[in-house]
Amino acid sequence: MSTPPLPREVLAQLPTGLLVDGQWRPSSTGATFAVEDPATTEVVTEVADASADDALAALDATSRAFEEWRAVAPRERAETLRAVFDRMTARAEELAAVVTAEGGKPLAEARAEVAYGAEYVRWYSEQAVRIDGLARRAPAGTNHQVVMHKPVGPAYAITPWNFPIAMATRKIAPALAAGCTMVVKPAQLTPLTTAFFAEIVREVLAERGLPAGVLAVVPSSSARRVSEPILADPRLRKLSFTGSTEVGRSLLKSAADGILRTSMELGGNAPFLVFEDADVEAAVQGALAAKMRNAGQTCVAANRFLVHSAVAEDFAAGLVAAFGKLVVGHGAAEGTSVGPLIEAAAVDKVEELVAAAVDRGASVRLGGERPDRRGYFYSPTVLTGVDREAPTVTEEIFGPVAPIVTFDTEAEAIELANGTEYGLVAYAFTRDVNRAFRLAEAIETGMLGINRGMVSDASAPFGGVKSSGLGREGGEAGLEEYLDSIYLAI
Ligand code: NAD
Repeated sequence: MSTPPLPREVLAQLPTGLLVDGQWRPSSTGATFAVEDPATTEVVTEVADASADDALAALDATSRAFEEWRAVAPRERAETLRAVFDRMTARAEELAAVVTAEGGKPLAEARAEVAYGAEYVRWYSEQAVRIDGLARRAPAGTNHQVVMHKPVGPAYAITPWNFPIAMATRKIAPALAAGCTMVVKPAQLTPLTTAFFAEIVREVLAERGLPAGVLAVVPSSSARRVSEPILADPRLRKLSFTGSTEVGRSLLKSAADGILRTSMELGGNAPFLVFEDADVEAAVQGALAAKMRNAGQTCVAANRFLVHSAVAEDFAAGLVAAFGKLVVGHGAAEGTSVGPLIEAAAVDKVEELVAAAVDRGASVRLGGERPDRRGYFYSPTVLTGVDREAPTVTEEIFGPVAPIVTFDTEAEAIELANGTEYGLVAYAFTRDVNRAFRLAEAIETGMLGINRGMVSDASAPFGGVKSSGLGREGGEAGLEEYLDSIYLAI
């Protein structure tokens, strides 16, 4: 029996247009594109396909709304966001169903993502009234210095498909809290969740009599077609991007012309270190969380398991046992713990990476195949004896594959961990607190999970170093990304 992509009553309420100036409307060209359920390859619905003119109309509306929104009292901005949080929470089940229908992740994970995404809205509703400044006497004693903050201006957000609600709220909530307005271009593969969320924002703004153009949404089958005119427009003051390093690099070049403020949340290649003194069972549980969320399609997914040779066999056996219990299936089906990958090309890439490891002598201890079912599935896979130079280790896998590489000393582990252009997150399992702090000093990373396979938290600064990005989202730092300072010499 095939699982329906989306309950009929949810589908009926889902906006499928472009949101410009508080109105849902079709594309100016009338074009649409299809959104697919990756677990069945069936079309969920068609969505308006924004043109370059639509993109500029969206920027126009958000630029006009900026002048009004920036003047809205911080308390009112806070309460608006709080109302959005309350409504998201009330409609969490419907939102989760949409996340699963277009992205494939199991419903339990979709619910967790909605709660995580809503938490950004709540956190920034609380921060909107805490935008601090500074006042002090100049060191020379001749005058006083006052520093105040202002919103940077109209912003543009480009989001990925792997966390369609959380990656959107992580940008929209701090932008709105700071007094900025925003145009959002959701990923082509997952525009529906963003539309659902934007409708909640639209309703709340309308009910409170606030400017309708604060948030615009422009789904498109061509990211370039909508992004290029927006990025070239001098009214835009800020770009926030989450996605691959390759696209981030090219967007930074475009942003250079307008000297735009940028936030870049890019790719990762997270090392997961298990030391000889680790609690191996806890490491296996941490590995499940760090590797298997969204079938391995997260920027913070453990990509390389670097395990001390004294515990490598125990860890591998534990991982094989744990992965072996996972149930692959449609995300909306009862009991599913691993959903599909996002598209056919993703399965091809994972298959190639596994083959490359095997060519270099790795053993497939579990999985290593496509299950025999419709949709873009790949089986949970454990590889041991993986060559350190195999592309499976050096590239972002974005699939449910755990390659295990062994090491013998802490120095070797650190060298392996840092042997990548990326630096988003690392995980380390050790009972030695001194070692944990040595790792924090030595590993080139924006985030480090100690004896934990999960680091994300709306109140903490999320982001990377090296080719993993610029800036931080979440916490106090996430709000600063949308603020300029003005210094008064008095
Ligand atoms: P992607 O870079 O292909 O796409 C991301 C977004 O950019 C999409 O909305 C896409 O339509 C748009 N885009 C693509 N080409 C563009 C262009 N030329 N101009 C403007 N926009 C363009 O990435 P993806 O496949 O959607 O997401 C997976 C990647 O995102 C992985 O590398 C993952 O690590 C990364 N990611 C990073 C974080 C983080 O916080 N660091 C979070 C989630 C995902």
